[in-house]
Amino acid sequence: MSKFAITGGARGIGLALRDLLMSEGHDVLTIDLNGGDITADLSNIRGRKKAVEAIKKWAPKGLRGYIPCAGLPPVAKPIEKIPSVNFFSAVETLENLRHLLSMDRGCALLVTSNSAPMLPHDDPFVLECLARDEVKVGAQITAIADGHIAYVGSKRALAMWMRQNVVSYANQGIRLNAIAPGITQTGLTDQVFNDPVLGQAMRDFEKSVPAGGSTTPETIAAVMCFLLGDAAKFVYGAVFFVDGGSDAMLRPKHF
Ligand code: NAD
Repeated sequence: MSKFAITGGARGIGLALRDLLMSEGHDVLTIDLNGGDITADLSNIRGRKKAVEAIKKWAPKGLRGYIPCAGLPPVAKPIEKIPSVNFFSAVETLENLRHLLSMDRGCALLVTSNSAPMLPHDDPFVLECLARDEVKVGAQITAIADGHIAYVGSKRALAMWMRQNVVSYANQGIRLNAIAPGITQTGLTDQVFNDPVLGQAMRDFEKSVPAGGSTTPETIAAVMCFLLGDAAKFVYGAVFFVDGGSDAMLRPKHF
């Protein structure tokens, strides 16, 4: 039995992963705004510290897996919370759990998105996230006022941060990977479907997915479980698309 901590584990994909890991006999601690084992608002530094301290107390002998899954959709308000939760909270908490993960030769699985490649790697907002000045990023996205850029940019930055840190974490025995889900039936997706601006675009995109529409949180969780387990012990630095073929459809020349 191993210990896994999941942020955003009270709903959606995080909850499905929690249930699956527990059904395999693992211990799981969830951190969420509400409804998790630990209540913390990861959009701010105080909440992140609270989450990290709680995880350290819960797993003093080491953590096998950390999954910063909490995320906000492109329609979330205020807009500056989108990069704060989707990028900054994931990276900051992971950095503070690094020692705990190394104690159990653990792994971290970041949750990016099939939409991440929709912004180029050198997009100014992506680079600003990677420069790690959260206040500046918040001000920049508030001025741009574009939820799509906030979401896609923070997910792109997250995948790039993961790739840039694979070697250094591997040197401590920690595997880093990311999963890139496509449209998954959760509360987050409902918020986008119900948005007057993005809703129709999302419905059109859903119709174009090669596998036919969207999927369940359980389908995503099953692949996450594989990436967290021993069967994936040689998988390092992968951005694993579970998106019904939409990334291949949009970017047939990339691999
Ligand atoms: P969800 O809304 O069902 O779950 C997200 C969870 O994060 C919720 O429990 C929420 O309370 C928590 N959360 C949000 N803000 C928080 C904060 N400030 N502090 C603590 N917890 C907070 O959404 P989901 O679809 O399960 O999303 C999980 C992850 O998957 C997100 O990172 C999301 O961006 C990503 N993702 C989802 C989809 C999709 O189609 N649903 C696609 C690609 C990526």
